[in-house]
Amino acid sequence: MTSLVDIVPPGVVTGDDLLTLLQHARTEGYAIPAVNCTSSSTANAVLEAARKSKSPVIIQVSNGGGAFLAGKGIKFADAAAAGSVALAMHVRSVAKYYGIPVVLHSDHCAKKLLPWFDAMLKADEEFFAKFGEPLYSSHMLDLSEEPDDENIAICVEYFKRMAPMKIWLEMEIGITGGEEDGVNNENVDPEKLYTSPEQVYAVYDALSKVGDMFSIAAAFGNVHGVYKPGNVVLSPERLGKHQEYARKMLNSPLEKPIYLVMHGGSGSTDDEIKTAVKNGVIKMNIDTDTQWAYWDGLRNFEKEKHDYLQGQIGNPTGADKPNKKFYDPRVWVRKAEETMVERVMVSCDKLGSKGTYEPADPEQGSPQIGEINGPNPIVLMTAAAIVGSAATLLVKAMMK
Ligand SMILES: [Zn+2]
Repeated sequence: MTSLVDIVPPGVVTGDDLLTLLQHARTEGYAIPAVNCTSSSTANAVLEAARKSKSPVIIQVSNGGGAFLAGKGIKFADAAAAGSVALAMHVRSVAKYYGIPVVLHSDHCAKKLLPWFDAMLKADEEFFAKFGEPLYSSHMLDLSEEPDDENIAICVEYFKRMAPMKIWLEMEIGITGGEEDGVNNENVDPEKLYTSPEQVYAVYDALSKVGDMFSIAAAFGNVHGVYKPGNVVLSPERLGKHQEYARKMLNSPLEKPIYLVMHGGSGSTDDEIKTAVKNGVIKMNIDTDTQWAYWDGLRNFEKEKHDYLQGQIGNPTGADKPNKKFYDPRVWVRKAEETMVERVMVSCDKLGSKGTYEPADPEQGSPQIGEINGPNPIVLMTAAAIVGSAATLLVKAMMK
């Protein structure tokens, strides 16, 4: 097994490093957990879990998560994009101190949300112009509600715009059931919940003409959220059929020519996850289970410290005792983080990504966003200003 540490750097990975990372996952047969984050607190919990699990990780933001990050108290058209950029900047500021590779990704983008996608791409292009890499490593387009031809055609157009920056594209064909982030597929035709090998191959055929950095979220009866077992059966073995069909059509030497993504992973059994990963799933989304874990930590804390949390002063140890060290958000938010960290670590274990990356020790020093992979524009500007003022002084001296 090639050591991941030798081929992929710590910190936010984009472009060729991202391709290397996902190739490694496909070859070695593991998947990377992709956890939805809606705050710097949840993002830090994911980074901490990845460091403790010695695993690469994917931090992803949904449209609703982006809007939440911008603040629920204001409404403006670009709120989701502004919040998504804010999350990316936060992660970029701290990721390298965790010493593991981090992929920045945006989640489902339906047709009506394309303005969000456009705005994120604009941010990627601006970041690319300054630092030589995009702000985000990867984005998802989910036009699975549209007819296949239209879904694929729109993906191809966007992929052309992303390819020069080497941004990964995840697309969805077939429908993930359930409800997530305001999209309700609870009553959809059950047959649409299973993508066919021909559909998957049609996507591969169209996108591979533009580039090789793409993955497909094919539906195999997966459902967003956690429900009681119902009529739809999760069939991860169907993913093997997609690989087999593509291999035959391409005459490919690769056992698993297609990068597959698993949505609706929350509530899946260990065997279902194993089968999915065996069949080429390199990324599994986790949202519902980590939402519960985050809440559960706070729930337990409130239960345990209830009598210390009823007023600023006064608790079982005395009527005049202060309670600041219980209601300080850093105390109770941390409790939520701790249980979320544990839950993400469980996913690293189940997906086989645990132990693949020996974390580097955090670098010391004042972090600058641009230091991570390119020249720092602030340093460059300062240097230019110093040179400029020295030249002015020189000219003044010569004129005397
Ligand atoms: Zn999903």
